[in-house]
Amino acid sequence: MEHIVIIGNGISGVTAARHIRKNSNKEITIVSAETDYFFSRTALMYVYMGHLKFEHTQPYESWFWKKNRINLKKGYVSKVHSNSNEIEFNDGEKLSFDKLIIATGSKPNKFGWPGQDLNGVMGMYHKQDLENLEKYAPDNKTCKHAVVVGGGLIGIELVEMLHSRNIPVTFLVREHSFWNGVLPKEESEMINKEILKNHIDLRLGVNLKEIKSDALGNVKSIVIAETGEEIECNVVGLTAGVSPNIDFLKDSELEIGRGVKVNRFLETNQPNIYAIGDCAEQHEAIGSRRSIEAVWYTGRMMGETVAQTICGNKIEYKPGHWFNSAKFIDIEYQTYGWVWAQTKENEARFYWEHKDETKCIHLNYDKNTREFIGINNFGIRMRHEFFDRVLTEKRSVDYVLEHLADANFDPEFYKLHESEIVAKFNQENNTNIQLKKKSWTRIFSRV
Ligand SMILES: Cc1cc2nc3c(=O)[nH]c(=O)nc-3n(C[C@H](O)[C@H](O)[C@H](O)COP(=O)(O)OP(=O)(O)OC[C@H]3O[C@@H](n4cnc5c(N)ncnc54)[C@H](O)[C@@H]3O)c2cc1C
Repeated sequence: MEHIVIIGNGISGVTAARHIRKNSNKEITIVSAETDYFFSRTALMYVYMGHLKFEHTQPYESWFWKKNRINLKKGYVSKVHSNSNEIEFNDGEKLSFDKLIIATGSKPNKFGWPGQDLNGVMGMYHKQDLENLEKYAPDNKTCKHAVVVGGGLIGIELVEMLHSRNIPVTFLVREHSFWNGVLPKEESEMINKEILKNHIDLRLGVNLKEIKSDALGNVKSIVIAETGEEIECNVVGLTAGVSPNIDFLKDSELEIGRGVKVNRFLETNQPNIYAIGDCAEQHEAIGSRRSIEAVWYTGRMMGETVAQTICGNKIEYKPGHWFNSAKFIDIEYQTYGWVWAQTKENEARFYWEHKDETKCIHLNYDKNTREFIGINNFGIRMRHEFFDRVLTEKRSVDYVLEHLADANFDPEFYKLHESEIVAKFNQENNTNIQLKKKSWTRIFSRV
């Protein structure tokens, strides 16, 4: 029987295994160095914040794997031998495969900062990072001050985590406004305010120079490059982005760029070897997407896709329209389609912000054809199905505004905002868009 070996028990590897099992009788082995069982990485923060126990982040009971004949093996893979169809563990043990799926995810970036390996310095990616955080920052007596370096989605999560235990935090952000390489100015500034409102010591436009040690090899302080200021701290979180976790493949025959290079079928340059999830890099980016996408749902989609191919139904990876969601302390964020940090030449924007400064929408559309390109929602949750449909149907911005009631989850709650939004758009654009009533038939027919 064909043996499928998967390296990595994250969302990508586990989704691939589940779908291979659904569609075939093949022997399946998942290998991982991190944990015995799959867990939801996106929920790690809630464990530290006390909302969940670690066990609750594991969606499948331990019997699930045996019942579905998915072998689990704990171990670190140090080599892939594509000529002999074997993987090798760091203790020298070998395991052969007929087909191999590499799903090894990401690792936190480190930029060679002096002191980056001291006790109390950590990334926020693996379960071991969470254990480290519990060790070095259990409370504000052990950790009197923490510094988080790097202002992205994981950085702000770590800030929120530390803040939830009343640990004072300094947040070093290289950009001049939070995540402004991705967010337009207005949204970025809204999040700056949210961070400051939570009494986080936000430092914009600064870089880490070095991390200093005490006599025992523990973190003592950090130094800011631009100002030379030294800040005493017990914990340093390094959250300056992630990159594919593929160092162990350096000497293999696999084509490597920043990630493992794959084509649209998620095939590598080696026969019978595939790569999926955060560690895979498309030879050519799909549409306006990035060639590496370190997000949860794309890992799941790649897992489903590669399972089909391995089970004889060869299909291309087609991720559909871009969307993403996250939370910036108390402000929920969703994005559908494209709203770039900078407006492109063919684009026009419409921005509405609630006076409480915690809700906004930002619409992006083609200024010539009026085609809707994308939306950012902050503090207002809207329906994915709606925006997926309007993007597919290439609807205009006017259509989107007319049908805002269909996009909202709670029509009563948002009625006021919708009228205000449309009125502002009409005023700024000299249009006469009228809000349509919620179209229940469409909503119900989609359930
Ligand atoms: C704190 C945090 C919050 C996040 N929040 C969100 C969010 O809200 N929304 C979102 O879309 N995404 C979020 N992400 C990103 C998302 O979690 C990742 O995109 C996703 O988990 C990647 O899945 P994966 O299966 O590709 O890899 P991973 O989940 O990284 O799994 C890979 C596994 O392979 C193991 N492994 C690696 N190398 C080897 C080896 N050589 N031998 C054996 N095992 C190995 C690793 O230890 C790991 O267990 C978040 C990430 C983090 C860290």
